[in-house]
Amino acid sequence: MGEIIHRTKTRPVKVGNLTIGGSDQVFIQSMTMTKTHDVEATVNEINRLEEAGCQIVRVACPDERAANAISEIKKRINIPLVVDIHFDYRLALIAIEGGADKIRINPGNIGKREKVEAVVKAAKAKGIPIRIGVNAGSLERHILKKYGYPTADGMVESALHHIQILEELDFHDIIVSMKASDVNLAIEAYEKASRAFDYPLHLGITESGTLFAGTVKSAAGLGAILSKGIGNTLRISLSADPVEEVKVARELLKSFGLISNAATLVSCPTCGRIEIDLISIANEVEEYIQNIKAPIKVSVLGCAVNGPGEAREADIGIAGARGEGLLFKKGKTVRKVPEETMVEELKKEIDIMAAEYFKK
Ligand code: SF4
Repeated sequence: MGEIIHRTKTRPVKVGNLTIGGSDQVFIQSMTMTKTHDVEATVNEINRLEEAGCQIVRVACPDERAANAISEIKKRINIPLVVDIHFDYRLALIAIEGGADKIRINPGNIGKREKVEAVVKAAKAKGIPIRIGVNAGSLERHILKKYGYPTADGMVESALHHIQILEELDFHDIIVSMKASDVNLAIEAYEKASRAFDYPLHLGITESGTLFAGTVKSAAGLGAILSKGIGNTLRISLSADPVEEVKVARELLKSFGLISNAATLVSCPTCGRIEIDLISIANEVEEYIQNIKAPIKVSVLGCAVNGPGEAREADIGIAGARGEGLLFKKGKTVRKVPEETMVEELKKEIDIMAAEYFKK
């Protein structure tokens, strides 16, 4: 199968102050775990997510209490708010009125035509998009009957069915997701979707699991999809604090050079030549660079044998030597630093580099 470059060719759709689609930017989404009607808890969680690098946040809207909370939540957060609704068009109307920046609802599940029209009219009036969320686990009965079980073709057919309903009402601010918990199925579904329509795609592997297993599974699936140039937003779904979802998403995007506001860490795998406590140093530096919003490559190496040479690509780093470290920049050793202050010195240098980056 050849290379697919869908991301940049998608139709640009506005979500709050962001434009999703039509560029090579991939935005990070996450979803709150709090009860949406608990405004205080939800706002706190959203603020934590934003701090971690989340760019769009979704909240569940299972009832009227949740829908009524949207306007208050919206007033107190900075990033675009997506409201997730199943079936009940009245909740969608309340959420839109309350200032939702996007709603996730499948028009084919709303019911009577008038109800769909009411939602589309309200979304149009506010200029907000609708995300169609196709999920392998909840395909329409007629599609399941046709294909026998959830398939990528069935998922695309479902997406096109919902898209058609919106297009017939002259609504085109659409974003689509094609989630499955089976990695191969998700990859195939996103590939087929990218050939079937040019609406932006929101990526996700559903129910991917716990922090460790879910990270591996999501990285495997979403990595394959991203590598084909598919995906305009993404969410890592983990049975964990959603802040972890954002951290994983950032790392994944870094791997593909799809994030411009993050520092990356290269650390050696360690071997018998190791001269410093590399694992704890690498963890400490990794934690530190979470807050560095400049694209700096940092390297931490256990010894100086291959030292700076191994990290030629890094902007800055340290290599362990007996009782000390060699601080290097762009592959060249700058000075020796004592082991006790090595990490602090590295952090200071990273800060200086970040400041220089923002001065440019
Ligand atoms: Fe081993 Fe040194 Fe390479 Fe780390 S940098 S893997 S300690 S040789």
